[in-house]
Amino acid sequence: MEQIGNYHTHTYRCGHAYGDDEQYIKAAIMAGFKELGFSEHIGYPCIDKPQERMLYKDQNEYLETMHKLQQKYADQIKLFIGFEIEYFDDQFDYLKTMRSHCDYMIVGQHCRYVEGCGYDQLSDDEAVIAYKNQLIACMKSGLVSMVTHPDYFMLGRRDFSETCEQAAHEICACAVACDIPLEINLNGLRYGKLRYIDRQQYAYPFRSFWEIAANYPIKAIYGFDAHQPTTLLEHGRIEEVQEILKDLQICLINQLVLK
Ligand SMILES: [Zn+2]
Ligand SMILES: [Zn+2]
Repeated sequence: MEQIGNYHTHTYRCGHAYGDDEQYIKAAIMAGFKELGFSEHIGYPCIDKPQERMLYKDQNEYLETMHKLQQKYADQIKLFIGFEIEYFDDQFDYLKTMRSHCDYMIVGQHCRYVEGCGYDQLSDDEAVIAYKNQLIACMKSGLVSMVTHPDYFMLGRRDFSETCEQAAHEICACAVACDIPLEINLNGLRYGKLRYIDRQQYAYPFRSFWEIAANYPIKAIYGFDAHQPTTLLEHGRIEEVQEILKDLQICLINQLVLK
């Protein structure tokens, strides 16, 4: 199935991605995409995290630049201007305001609090429950069109416990109820295989999570999560991920409907 677009793309502004904006656009055109969604890590007014998110003060420049590029490339590719957000209850009003300034949002929950506490560093069962609750609240909030790497918490664990199973069930049930696609992330491969209790495997996509997801009528979509332009040209990532998820009946979509 041909991918119509990629809706998970970063820029240099977050401090851990590389390349000029137009290089991402050119790479997307070369890859044959009809649509490209920029989803830079949103900044928060209360705290700057220069290596993790765009600075709060840079957000207007990001939106203005992207609007210009949207026009400039209009005859070659459809550009969507968005944000990858992290959902925190105490930031809801801010996120809602920012939603009105962009085309779409996706959620990629990396931290427990706006100040930090990364789920990639350690996710014990209690943290997995907090993670799951944040994703569910976010899906119900109506802010987002997609959940990126829903299995992200596996970076901070070395086993898939009963609590993880339960969290996967609840995330998938909510995604179905809210009709929000779950992303099969194509950039979890960059961490290499980690030493889980039973075998070495990538943190995401994590097969045990998707075995549960396959029991639900979820919609899944590939996301390159590009932090450099050439990532968009690496179609082989899809084949690698298909091998991990082999024989699972997951309904894939190739175009994101923006909410
Ligand atoms: Zn990133
Ligand atoms: Zn991302």
